[in-house]
Amino acid sequence: MATTSSSSFAAKRLEGKVALITGGASGIGECTARVFSHHGAKVIIADIQDELGFSVCNDIGSDTASFVHCDVTVEDDVKNAVNFAVSKYGKLDIMYNNAGVIDTPKPLIYNDKSDFDRVMNVIVTGTLLGTKHAARVMIPARSGSIIATGSVASSMGGVGTYAYTCAKHALVGLTKNAAVELGQFGVRVNCVSPYAVATKLAVGFTGVELEDEVFEKIMSSHANLKGPVLKAEDVALAVLYLASDESRYVSGHNLLVDGGFTVVNPSLLAFDPTTI
Ligand code: NAD
Repeated sequence: MATTSSSSFAAKRLEGKVALITGGASGIGECTARVFSHHGAKVIIADIQDELGFSVCNDIGSDTASFVHCDVTVEDDVKNAVNFAVSKYGKLDIMYNNAGVIDTPKPLIYNDKSDFDRVMNVIVTGTLLGTKHAARVMIPARSGSIIATGSVASSMGGVGTYAYTCAKHALVGLTKNAAVELGQFGVRVNCVSPYAVATKLAVGFTGVELEDEVFEKIMSSHANLKGPVLKAEDVALAVLYLASDESRYVSGHNLLVDGGFTVVNPSLLAFDPTTI
């Protein structure tokens, strides 16, 4: 996925920084890895898709991007990924906890505990472990930016499965708690919450794999903001802001990249007072 001119006109905003991105082999994480490296960061992609991860790193350039196998639900893997960054570059400035999965939507009474556990494990436990091990090296450095990928499902019901909605709401709590504790050490913790982006996770979400264009058309028809179609790069640019020193006083925040989707209830917009 190429970065467009929207991210190339500005000066390098992450020069000298080191970033670790979980779930960086695909979708929003991959796009963010490309945007970060374009802005001068050394990037480590941590994912379970080794072949894809290595190929993305080769494409970005082996001088700036490296891959490390990491299942975010396995603490030793997360610890190893953070240690890899520190041993290769001497520090970790940015931790982007982005890895995620979703289960197939089902009515509540048909929900399986195993699906719930799997989604909670990757999204919540994975982010907790990423935040913990990033903090371990950022606290002594007295600086750092930790970011999680939330979702519109982090702040409203009915737009994700039960597991996904619980997991994404939990990330907001995790972000707030970590921001409170780590503020004293100069470490910032934030969340980025996008509306729908055509990625592997999203286009197959209903169980039927949609073409990207079809998915975008459907999501745009339900969007609040008309005109632009949300792309992975729009999310990556929000993450870039939170990763960079431009947001140096922003912490504990959930930055919605949703075109106002979560602040509007369109049900009354169609209300016709003459029908009373
Ligand atoms: P994606 O499927 O393209 O990327 C997800 C990545 O996470 C993949 O590379 C996958 O291999 C990796 N991953 C999954 N389980 C992992 C594990 N246990 N350990 C390490 N890596 C693992 O999908 P995406 O849409 O780019 O998802 C990225 C994040 O964005 C997720 O947290 C997702 O919930 C969130 N999100 C996506 C959308 C959307 O519409 N696409 C909207 C809101 C939030």
